[in-house]
Amino acid sequence: MSTVTTAIDIKKIRSQFPILDQEVNGKPLIYFDNAASSQTAKSVVDALVNFYEKDHANIHRGIHTLAERSTKAFEETRERVHQFINSAEADEIIFTKGTTESINLVAQAWGSKFLKSGDEILISHLEHHSNIVPWQLAAERTGAIIKVIPINEKGEILIEEYKKLLSTKTKLVAVNYISNSLGTINPVKEIIAEAIKVNATTLIDAAQAAPHIKIDVQELNCDFLALSSHKMYGPTGVGVLYGRREVLEATPPYQGGGEMIKDVSFSGTTFNDIPYKFEAGTPNIGGVIAFKSAMDFIDEIGHEAIQAYEHELLEYATDRLNQIPGFTPIGTAENKASVISFLIDNVHPYDLGQLLDVKGIAVRTGHHCTQPLMDFFEIDGTVRASFAVYNTKEEIDVFCESLQKIVERFS
Ligand code: PLP
Repeated sequence: MSTVTTAIDIKKIRSQFPILDQEVNGKPLIYFDNAASSQTAKSVVDALVNFYEKDHANIHRGIHTLAERSTKAFEETRERVHQFINSAEADEIIFTKGTTESINLVAQAWGSKFLKSGDEILISHLEHHSNIVPWQLAAERTGAIIKVIPINEKGEILIEEYKKLLSTKTKLVAVNYISNSLGTINPVKEIIAEAIKVNATTLIDAAQAAPHIKIDVQELNCDFLALSSHKMYGPTGVGVLYGRREVLEATPPYQGGGEMIKDVSFSGTTFNDIPYKFEAGTPNIGGVIAFKSAMDFIDEIGHEAIQAYEHELLEYATDRLNQIPGFTPIGTAENKASVISFLIDNVHPYDLGQLLDVKGIAVRTGHHCTQPLMDFFEIDGTVRASFAVYNTKEEIDVFCESLQKIVERFS
């Protein structure tokens, strides 16, 4: 059996995820679908239960004790996100349903004011549909034009081609930090620095990055950044939109309703200050409060240790998988997160996914919400194994042995 060299306490980490300690189809569960959604840490579930059992009340509007308690806990998570991504202020943190809603908020609210006919929006060929379709809708509404930053066969952004696309017409550059399908870690700092030279606004889709690498929005110098709690060991239905104060203040509201107003009469409405201007209606209060525990969980291990450990898993799995006959990796970037997309000769990804499930192994198959990227590789989809900090080399051994047996059956 292989040994893990990176210093993390895997036993302690796994004890936070009782869900992993079960059999699926008579085999110990091996969960390699973390890029879709990671499992929820026990401390997060406990926080959620504690909220509903002890503190539940609507936030901001009440003066009674429970309302004060839930408001305090909700705002503490805002402070926690502010620290976690190093924003200049907590007011730059807006809670949403997830990355998808965060990007739609920008595309609709910012886009409606700042995009006009002939303006250019740059996105990359690596984007998730949620960083493509909102821009297509914004382009339809405003007459702006979408331009696509090309990639190479490894699945890496072609920086020189990107620079050629930039001009004074570029109003927005929106790219992901890490590709969910291939695991490519994009040089977002350089991408942002180039965008700033032409005064373009920048948005980083950090859905895949937040659980794996330290995010520092001030160092990145981006205008917007989006992330999802459920990919960070936190609950579903909670996301964040970071926006730089000046940009948020200049952006009109996204949705109208309670909480986002200062004063309403039938002759007009004055809007609340940021961040509340963008938080109409009752949010996912319990989810937001529990999300704080997810960030605590990540920070307790530390991004550096997480990244080093996951990289070790990535290298180990890549070496082993390369020995399996008919294995073809899709996406071989130099700088890669712990995601392996692949095909096996003569076995359809869907069949592979089902056969692995029979062995208790959860992987994702299909286009991973990146159809234009699949078109680039001229394939319909892949099998994707994505590792989290609770995965082990022993699980990778079982996964590779299972794959080997499937290949033998099909050859
Ligand atoms: N962007 C990327 C890179 C993703 O991987 C995902 C989800 O897989 C999303 C955006 C959408 O995230 P959500 O479904 O949490 O809104």
